[in-house]
Amino acid sequence: MAEVTLSFDNGPEPQVTGGVLDVLARRAVKASFFVLGSRLEAGAARRLAERARAEGHWIGNHSWSHQVPLGEDARPDAVEREIAATERALGGLADARRLFRPFGGGGKIGHHLLSAAARDYLIANRHTCVLWNCVPEDWIDQEGWVERALDQVAASPRALVVLHDILPVAMSHLDRFIGALLDAGHRIVQDYPQQCVPIERGRVTADLSGFVAESGG
Ligand SMILES: [Zn+2]
Repeated sequence: MAEVTLSFDNGPEPQVTGGVLDVLARRAVKASFFVLGSRLEAGAARRLAERARAEGHWIGNHSWSHQVPLGEDARPDAVEREIAATERALGGLADARRLFRPFGGGGKIGHHLLSAAARDYLIANRHTCVLWNCVPEDWIDQEGWVERALDQVAASPRALVVLHDILPVAMSHLDRFIGALLDAGHRIVQDYPQQCVPIERGRVTADLSGFVAESGG
């Protein structure tokens, strides 16, 4: 039996996020939504983020464009355009801990996640950096991800699962996934496993060298 945390990245997506929120409400599950700043410019998406927050979910920053991982983004103003601009777009939707989740391309954790400038910015601005340890690749296998996720959860006492509330077919299986977790005796919690939070309100709690680009200072 494990403790499992659910997170939904890359939204809000008007075609999908509302249905995800409906399932979570029906199951009385609280989760996190790591949203893209660019998506919040659309009123329908912003209203979904507002609904998520009102229903007790935590809202985090997942970059503005989600195009180039920060550790590989050579633009001198990448941190401003990706992290700071998204935080401004979030405004009052942001969690008090100023949650930020970098993106990895395929869910991989490595040096590409953050630049040195991004790391320094997160620390200086008292952000909380939230990584993950369970990626069932719902974008690759929208029908079969549930079984892979259950296998991954069973192998870890404390899982933080990454799903994507932009995938209608994958998210049509969310209720079945939650039911299977509960049937297996797992407990779904909103808090993050400590091992997935290397920066907490600006305080470094783990060795960051594994996910900060080695070049560029
Ligand atoms: Zn992402």
